[in-house]
Amino acid sequence: MDELSTSEALHRGAERIQARTRATLPKAGLPLDDWIERDWRDVGHGDWPRWVEAVGRLPDPPADAVNHLDAAAITVASPSATPSEVEAALRGLIPWRKGPFELLGVTIDTEWRSDLKWDRLIDHITPLEGRRVLDVGCGNGYHLWRMLGAGAAFALGVDPTWVFTAQFHAVAHLLDETRAGIVPATLERLPQRPVFDSVFSMGVLYHRRDPFTHLQELKRCLRPGGELILETLVVEGDERTILTPADRYAGMRNVWFLPSPAVVEGWLARMGFVDARLVDVSVTTEAEQHRTEWFGDRQSLVDFLDPDDPSLTREGLPAPRRAIIVARRPA
Ligand code: SAH
Repeated sequence: MDELSTSEALHRGAERIQARTRATLPKAGLPLDDWIERDWRDVGHGDWPRWVEAVGRLPDPPADAVNHLDAAAITVASPSATPSEVEAALRGLIPWRKGPFELLGVTIDTEWRSDLKWDRLIDHITPLEGRRVLDVGCGNGYHLWRMLGAGAAFALGVDPTWVFTAQFHAVAHLLDETRAGIVPATLERLPQRPVFDSVFSMGVLYHRRDPFTHLQELKRCLRPGGELILETLVVEGDERTILTPADRYAGMRNVWFLPSPAVVEGWLARMGFVDARLVDVSVTTEAEQHRTEWFGDRQSLVDFLDPDDPSLTREGLPAPRRAIIVARRPA
């Protein structure tokens, strides 16, 4: 491909994002016109133009490209790929938190092995075949692709972090996929209508000051009888156990509480969900969360644990443990 000027790449990136937004968001069945008609050149985040430029610098996927959405790494494979061109653009979108991806010969080793979380839940949920799915706090959309790989008809992600939205558009461009879309906003800002068969909220609950409002918003997005897949940090304990970190938790400033699984089940019942089932509890390991160059060598799990006692965080609190709970909106 000829070398593009910055303004040409920016223009092309914005056009790609605009076109994909128009091709995907109407499928959500929600009144998202403000997002669909938005001018994607300027969104008011200082680094956004640089990320849009990176999306614009990606080559089109070759005609012989083949996608794999049902493997650990979301993959676009092609014998005629030119990885160097792809890699330079994708590096412009660092930090990559969620993955892994294998895109036209470029392996993106992300901070998280998000496939491990997927493996822990997939056998415990209603099969996604033909379903319309919402993923709240979707990050760069790694799990949206796994949802399509598991047969979902359409998957909508929402996430307010702009670099993840840019990463979604980069991957979607290389996959040449329009069965998944993203809205770069919090769930609170989204019209909440009962149009989804399955709603995922993974890694979001403890970032919200008010867990009940979050659960209520999730419920409003589910059709009657639809399924919620809730994943959250937890602590060991009974229905009376909630930990409120005095300050940071595992380095994070925005963790407001860590409930026990029994507390979460109680909250779900209180908000009118039924049939809650705890399907997994796992302590986070370095195999799942690690430092990597594609995450910009930022601090990761090891840096947040007590070096003398890895069952504790540096703040002296229980090390990260995560639970997956599946429940239903009554029919
Ligand atoms: N669901 C993914 C990512 C979890 S990280 C996974 O489980 O691997 C949490 C994500 O939630 C971040 O990307 C953050 O931007 C997003 N987030 C935080 N508050 C949110 C809100 N109110 N609505 C939607 N997304 C939110």
